[in-house]
Amino acid sequence: MKRTAWLALLAVTTMSACAQPTPEQQIINDAAAALGGSDRILAVKTIVIEGEGTNGNLGQDVRPDATSQTFKLTDYKRSIDVVSGRARIEQTRTPNFTYFQGQAPQKQVLGVDGEVGYNVAPNGNATRTANAAASDRRMEIYHHPLTSVRAALDPAAMLSNPRTQDSQSVVDVTTAAGLKFTLAIDSTTKLPTRVVSMTDNTNLGDVAIETSFGDYQDVTGLRLPAHLTTKTDQLTTVDILVAKQTVDGDAGDLAAPAAAASAAPIAGPPPANVTVLEVAPGIWQLAGQSHHSVLVEFSDDMTLIETPQNDTRALAVIAKAREVRPNKPLTQVINSHHHFDHSGGIRAAVSEGLTIIAQKDSAQFYQDAVGRAHTIVPDALAKSPKPLKIETVDEEMVLKDDTRTVNLYRIAGSAHADTLLMTYFPKERILVEADVYNPGATVTPFAANLMENIKKRNLRIDRIVPLHATIGPFSDLVKTVAARSTN
Ligand SMILES: [Zn+2]
Repeated sequence: MKRTAWLALLAVTTMSACAQPTPEQQIINDAAAALGGSDRILAVKTIVIEGEGTNGNLGQDVRPDATSQTFKLTDYKRSIDVVSGRARIEQTRTPNFTYFQGQAPQKQVLGVDGEVGYNVAPNGNATRTANAAASDRRMEIYHHPLTSVRAALDPAAMLSNPRTQDSQSVVDVTTAAGLKFTLAIDSTTKLPTRVVSMTDNTNLGDVAIETSFGDYQDVTGLRLPAHLTTKTDQLTTVDILVAKQTVDGDAGDLAAPAAAASAAPIAGPPPANVTVLEVAPGIWQLAGQSHHSVLVEFSDDMTLIETPQNDTRALAVIAKAREVRPNKPLTQVINSHHHFDHSGGIRAAVSEGLTIIAQKDSAQFYQDAVGRAHTIVPDALAKSPKPLKIETVDEEMVLKDDTRTVNLYRIAGSAHADTLLMTYFPKERILVEADVYNPGATVTPFAANLMENIKKRNLRIDRIVPLHATIGPFSDLVKTVAARSTN
């Protein structure tokens, strides 16, 4: 070899010795090598994962701490175009519990294409999701070893905070597009063990989404997990057992359907529309959208039943209630049950100084909810912190003054929720309930149990004022239960 060549080789050797990878780069390099090498990873264009599994019932189980309700997933197919940032999940989900929409399997198509999140209904109609859901789905693309390591290999990605936790090497990654996640790899095998990212949840606030990877298998020169488990906060929301995975096969057309792609972006919940209907003297239904409230006048103050959904709805309902009787203070809100859609405005109610009346077994849940950090999307309570004032109901409670009597009863034995309170107005013969009976509905799995509770309490009812759907005569419930029992 000529002397010049030796010198050149020496120079290269010296340079590479100087360009020692940083600890954070070393974690990514190790992960890439374990998965099949960076060249192989960077060459991948699509991945299709097929199998079956379960979805958890986040925020909708029978008790705040329960985890037994799941949807069985079949025909599960997750397709990712790693180059163009498109992904789609197709699945059929079947509830393992008494579901308000019935027990029939439901086909779902959930996708993201760049900034556009979309769902396709079984009839083929595509709709655009809110931007927050699109952003979560864009992040979900990186909840996989291949996509997360591939993004971290991009020279435009930023790697930081290398550390060791529980025999895992951990590094924070900001992708070239600005998405942030944490990647952990096994200290021995160097295979990715989990990806964690943070998002905002109306009820839970700043929340960690963590996907764990197990059962690695060989797939065309790559090592890929055959078991993926995603937790939202503490609850397992997705658990997938992979039967087949295809790299660079036919991933189909993952572009957003035209109807979704051309729809306007949805920045947040729709503006609140609160209608006021006096259903009896001093009792108003505040409706207008999917979740209703009821306002009740006492001699010295006002009580709301339900501040649902989110700040937008809850604050609008509270403002409307104050408009109805400007001279009487609104002091408290009765919460129908802990489900996220019915409790998503509790923090707003606390921020407005209202006392919460709720079933005893949801008290800890509300204590936790009020204490949670909401820094990613600061809500009304984050901006104006106040302590929780709560009064709990075990089986029953009476709110009474010289003008009015209101009875609160726990709905015993409901398959829908174990923290349900129904509100009974004995003089007006009105019952207010959430979720267990919508007058006119064709699927009524909780109606018979509601009737049992009504009979047990000897309630005399003329009208049901539901927190969904429209007001109906009690005779509708009687007919529904009679029809069900003869079926
Ligand atoms: Zn519910």
